[in-house]
Amino acid sequence: MNLFLKNISQLVTVAARGKTAKTGPEMRDLGIIADAGVLCREGRIAWVGPMREWRETLGPDDGELDAAGMVVIPGFVDSHTHMMFAGSREKEFALRAEGATYQQIAEQGGGILNTIGHVRAAHKKALKRQTVAYMNEMLRAGTTTVEIKSGYGLDMDTEVRMLEAINELRVEELMGVVPTFLGAHAVPPEFAGRTGDYVAMLLETVLPYVGRKKLARFCDVFCEKGYFEIADSERILSAARSLGMDLKVHADELTSLGGAELAARLGAVSADHLEHVSPRGISAMRDAGVVAGLLPGVSFFLNHGYAPARALIDAGVTVAIASDFNPGSCMSYSMPLMMTIACTQMHMTPEEALAAATLNGAAALGLASEIGSVEVGKRADLLVAEIPDYRFLAYHFGTNHIRTTVKNGTILEF
Ligand SMILES: [Zn+2]
Repeated sequence: MNLFLKNISQLVTVAARGKTAKTGPEMRDLGIIADAGVLCREGRIAWVGPMREWRETLGPDDGELDAAGMVVIPGFVDSHTHMMFAGSREKEFALRAEGATYQQIAEQGGGILNTIGHVRAAHKKALKRQTVAYMNEMLRAGTTTVEIKSGYGLDMDTEVRMLEAINELRVEELMGVVPTFLGAHAVPPEFAGRTGDYVAMLLETVLPYVGRKKLARFCDVFCEKGYFEIADSERILSAARSLGMDLKVHADELTSLGGAELAARLGAVSADHLEHVSPRGISAMRDAGVVAGLLPGVSFFLNHGYAPARALIDAGVTVAIASDFNPGSCMSYSMPLMMTIACTQMHMTPEEALAAATLNGAAALGLASEIGSVEVGKRADLLVAEIPDYRFLAYHFGTNHIRTTVKNGTILEF
């Protein structure tokens, strides 16, 4: 069973050409083919090229999609989300709009503790139901692979329940799902003032179980002053690595603590946030090949300053952008919106933003040989957008231009 996308006005392949990501000036080279075709066979891309070179004939069971007047791009890879949660935080949003500080909101029981309370009280079914609803909206908006973190349980039962739910979605749902263990997201209230005891509990109880049951592809840590500082982060990440997990770090978001340098030293796949990354952190990441996972929506939503995307790209660090979709600091999963913010606030070009949201997002998940570009052999995850040029994705913002999402070579019906 084949699917042939024909007469594509503008095919943006984001071709990696044998590399695992795009860095520096390569990010502006999107491998565009005018009047193109793409053949999907058994979930993978079997042929890509200009229509004038198309020679095959389709069988009676094969599907065809005429994409005349359309732009086709790879499916978005959202490499950093906290999209499994319960409850919502619109009241805090309103309070912030009226000038309340994070501290004041926390004193009223708000912030992450609010979400933790809801998630601890939620059954696995309820967690899955809400997450699937968001996943369907994300597929419609063009995201075909998503990373989902635990970290709203912060106790053995709830962290494991979250990871089991995420793994079940990975099997049951059409979207590509990558599970990440983030037990070190915050110190839960019952361990207030006893970070060391909480870290010990993670190391002795939760991490070994997560590792033994293979519940997570990655382990992540919120490495920040007053949360999990460098020594604690290193202990958790090193233990996770010895249990077979790859590493990610929430690094240098609020202060220049050295999370980027830690990620480089431990050979993490990505260091994310980086609003306050130091020049030393930037060179360490480049030398160690750590992907920078930038989260433009968080800086926009919290109004707390942006990561130095230009400095990172110009230094030769692989830059990805992701939504960080979560109820507190970025209540959006729109990858095109993240691209718009990256262009207007972080001085990335539309080409860089698109490469960062596709191929480099795949690199941030260690999946760049499998997804993130339109190349023969990769998974057939494709978006058909009703726009005259790919730059409209970031330029004409606040609207969904995606008309058809193709996942594993199948047209999704909504
Ligand atoms: Zn995050």
